[in-house]
Amino acid sequence: MAVITPQPGIMDIALYEGGKSHLDGVAQVLKLSSNENPLGPPPSAIAALTQAAAGMHLYPSTDHADLRAAIAEMWQVEADRVICGVGSDEVLQFVTQAFAGPGDEIIYTEHGFSMYPILANMAGATPVKVPEAVRVVDVDAILGAVTDRTRIVLLTNPGNPTGTILPDEDLVRLADGLPDSVILVIDGAYTEYAEGYDGGRSLAKERPNVLMTRTFSKIYGLGGLRVGWGYGPKALIDVMTRIRQPFNLSVVQLAAAEAALRDRDWLDTCSALNADQRARLTGALRQLGVECDESQTNFVLARFASPDEAGAADATLQADGIIVRRVTGYGFPEGLRITVGDAEQTGRVIDSLTRWRAA
Ligand code: PMP
Repeated sequence: MAVITPQPGIMDIALYEGGKSHLDGVAQVLKLSSNENPLGPPPSAIAALTQAAAGMHLYPSTDHADLRAAIAEMWQVEADRVICGVGSDEVLQFVTQAFAGPGDEIIYTEHGFSMYPILANMAGATPVKVPEAVRVVDVDAILGAVTDRTRIVLLTNPGNPTGTILPDEDLVRLADGLPDSVILVIDGAYTEYAEGYDGGRSLAKERPNVLMTRTFSKIYGLGGLRVGWGYGPKALIDVMTRIRQPFNLSVVQLAAAEAALRDRDWLDTCSALNADQRARLTGALRQLGVECDESQTNFVLARFASPDEAGAADATLQADGIIVRRVTGYGFPEGLRITVGDAEQTGRVIDSLTRWRAA
């Protein structure tokens, strides 16, 4: 009997493990495991989505012209060098699929986003993991790992789960050191939380081989809606567009994302709240003897004395109905990544950890 067999390599692709969203026996959990916006979606986006829904019998725009125009205006980029996707995940898939294949290598860093090796495998390419320095991306280690098979370097900046940022001069040094044939992808999922950082925009504007990716899932509060975008040289965007489904974004996704983007007050409100609560959480953790770096994102990587201690703290948080992220798979068995919540939520985390410490 004939057997249906998948294409070679497909069964080697790992399944993505997302953050937990429920706890057995707890009706109302506080989910601080996926770096979502504690204020929810902007009301302006809900209104635009509701209005757009009345037109959902019609196919959406294939070229995303309105959303790209809004992105261009807001972030001072050229609209014809922007590509939109179903979350930045899809934009990352476009670039890996379009520019790497069997026999090619895709470099990512030790604490990089867990989708990177999966995306490399999805493209049929070989993921190459490069060590980081002390919780910061190591430019020399990346440059040292480049071979004549390297096609792409995937870099998260600011980092997840480290929360640290590679300074502009190091980003430039990395771009300068890479051959022109290697694409540098600067994944800026958390760019808006980092003060004075352009997410790699100036590099993506000038260089023939730099692509910046961004998302509506974090500061814009639209993680469940799934919209992201990329900006880079026209030649790269043109290639990526060939493998984009013409109707990849729905009428409601397009309308809500555009409204959120034009809502500058929302950005300011979320950014200010995050900065305040992040400072408060960082300070409280340190007072409890838990180490953490200054975060440039909407989460804090809390480093405990040992994996067991992190497990015990996690158990206390869970007993209090709070879900944070164990980041063992990201190379931090002693770490808990805690999303910065609003004032009340941050208070609950601090109270819970204070009780854990006192026990
Ligand atoms: N890059 C990084 C570093 C992330 O943390 C995430 C989401 N956790 C993504 C990309 C993907 O985000 P989305 O697909 O929701 O835009």
